[in-house]
Amino acid sequence: MYKFLTGIFEQFADLIYKQKCVVCGCSKTNEILCKNCLKTVHNLSPFAQRKVEGVNIFCACKYEGAVKNLITNFKFNGRKNAAIPCAQILYKYFTEVVKSNDLDLNPKNALLICIPSHRLRVLKRGYCHTELILKEFSNLSKIPYDLKIIKKVKNTLPQYKVRADKRAKNVSGAFKIASNRARGKTLILIDDITTTGATLFEAVSNLKKQKYDNIICFTLAC
Ligand SMILES: [Zn+2]
Repeated sequence: MYKFLTGIFEQFADLIYKQKCVVCGCSKTNEILCKNCLKTVHNLSPFAQRKVEGVNIFCACKYEGAVKNLITNFKFNGRKNAAIPCAQILYKYFTEVVKSNDLDLNPKNALLICIPSHRLRVLKRGYCHTELILKEFSNLSKIPYDLKIIKKVKNTLPQYKVRADKRAKNVSGAFKIASNRARGKTLILIDDITTTGATLFEAVSNLKKQKYDNIICFTLAC
């Protein structure tokens, strides 16, 4: 028991005093993502990479290198605080997009939402990773968020486990949309990764059915 408690204490102390970089494991700088790893992260073009249902999709980085490692450790290895650098990378990109496209996304007329996980997945992981990015992003941008507009009601297979041509079917009917929560606001929909765009398509088309007409999507990686 003593050993067990000491173990827990050491892990706790490790978290506080010897923060290791999520990606390279170094503990020199006491940062969740160290400066050297951050330097290798390059933003993609600040112009929409693609459109889904007429909605612009902006993707911050390629899903490779440090970003891939960061997201993997965040989603599958319990590194909850990786949400902070994820949101920072996304926010830096967001400011470039707003400037380059002359967008009006100030906190008064915009609302953040994210692609949520099913509650059973959240129970298993211990947290909803996109929700954590959303909250950190909200802190940085001062744009409010609403977690009730979009709910995941179907516990789908993770998209990466499904063949590309079956992904639309996998997420079909996965979301439930609450109506009348954001009149006149632009919804900023956040997700971690987009590949085929099937999840964003499902979410966006359902949001549009509920008369949410102004939507813009941001993903950390693609
Ligand atoms: Zn590092």
